[in-house]
Amino acid sequence: MTHTLFAADALLPAGWAKNVLLSWNDAGRFTQLQSATPRPAGVKLAAGPVIPGMPNLHSHAFQRAFAGLTEHRAEQHDSFWSWRALMYRFAARLAPQHMEAIAAWLYAEMLEAGYTSVCEFHYLHHDADGRPYADDAALSLALLHAARKTGIGFTLLPVLYQTSGFGEQPPHAGQRRFIRSTESMLRLLEMLKPACDAQGARLGLAPHSLRAVPPGALRDAVNGLEAIDRTAPIHIHIAEQTQEVEDCIAWSGQRPVEWLLDHAPVDARWCLVHATHMSDPEYQHAAQSGAVAGLCPTTEANLGDGIFDFSKWRSHGGAWGLGSDSHASVNAAEELLLLEYSQRLAKRQRNVGASAAQPHVATALTLEAVQGGAQATGRNVGGLAVGRQADFVVLDAAHVALQGLPAPDMLSAHVFASHRTSAIDGVWVAGRERVAAGRHALHDEAASAFVAARSQLLQD
Ligand SMILES: [Zn+2]
Repeated sequence: MTHTLFAADALLPAGWAKNVLLSWNDAGRFTQLQSATPRPAGVKLAAGPVIPGMPNLHSHAFQRAFAGLTEHRAEQHDSFWSWRALMYRFAARLAPQHMEAIAAWLYAEMLEAGYTSVCEFHYLHHDADGRPYADDAALSLALLHAARKTGIGFTLLPVLYQTSGFGEQPPHAGQRRFIRSTESMLRLLEMLKPACDAQGARLGLAPHSLRAVPPGALRDAVNGLEAIDRTAPIHIHIAEQTQEVEDCIAWSGQRPVEWLLDHAPVDARWCLVHATHMSDPEYQHAAQSGAVAGLCPTTEANLGDGIFDFSKWRSHGGAWGLGSDSHASVNAAEELLLLEYSQRLAKRQRNVGASAAQPHVATALTLEAVQGGAQATGRNVGGLAVGRQADFVVLDAAHVALQGLPAPDMLSAHVFASHRTSAIDGVWVAGRERVAAGRHALHDEAASAFVAARSQLLQD
């Protein structure tokens, strides 16, 4: 059976098109995108411009539950490291039912905010004492259930975490829920593969960072993953903090990205999350490796990480995508806004994200972030194109910010002229409408469960 929707305007990979008939099959894949065609009788008209769904390439779901709770001064110079201490205290109490409730609400929020898939960088594996659960995959399965329930596309990236610093420093007590041997990680992946396949999720691996994974373990884990799935995605936190860069140089004589490119088979499967602090040669070589740069503008701003040199990365043809990471914000448009604004502030220039092909910043950034983000998911998503999964967002042309404007300006207004309410009307994943009139079907139920879980975690 063929399913259809008609859009007065749609953002195709080559740019905006008018009068587009979108068709997809029962498997949720586009079979046709016909532009400049009259609307056939009986075909529903979209409420506004149709844009591709945004993949969210970096998420730690449980962190949504304490977003907003670390915005007070605890030390003279609060930093990423003081934030992390609070995060560890919170993580220590989390049980599988909390994880599922928090993730289900978060994924409903993501869908309402224009994200159609998410890569979950999942590092809480064991119980509060660091012992494996009776079902060693309990917390991973809680995330998979939350994704299935809400309908968001899913890439599960179990995190390998073994040491507390460069040079194989032993983990400390706050990290006991994260720790796995390489063999235990590979067993977990084998165990999770059928569950992921059953719901169309992709399974990959996330070596946490070079400070948390020694060289031998990194090599063995990547080899083990390749034996399970030769093209599976591999994500790593790489150069988020200047202290991390200095520690890496002290340990190896090389900067983190430089070291990784020299010692790991970095290619298009890889996503370098927070490649914030790179030298000029690192920008060039990392971009040329084919890896995706995982940018998380609101989290990087929230944590005071630093500013990625977006123009330099693009000048080398680097792929990139967006993540909401710690979920200080869950809004694809806000990530685009802050990415562009950080570059404007750093360069004292406007419209940095525009390109020769796309003078509209929001259009140019959306198309690139969708393409790079899709690559990082390892799934068949990534724009309004025949054969791709039908993941798309319908903007509300009647919203006060958008009404009466040409389509490229509607998207600009959605990103740059917020009127305090979302201009998203519908969100479709694999051809199924998960958000209608701006709301996810599970909105109220998931919100209540989230608030109850957070209250439990904050008790005492
Ligand atoms: Zn992260």
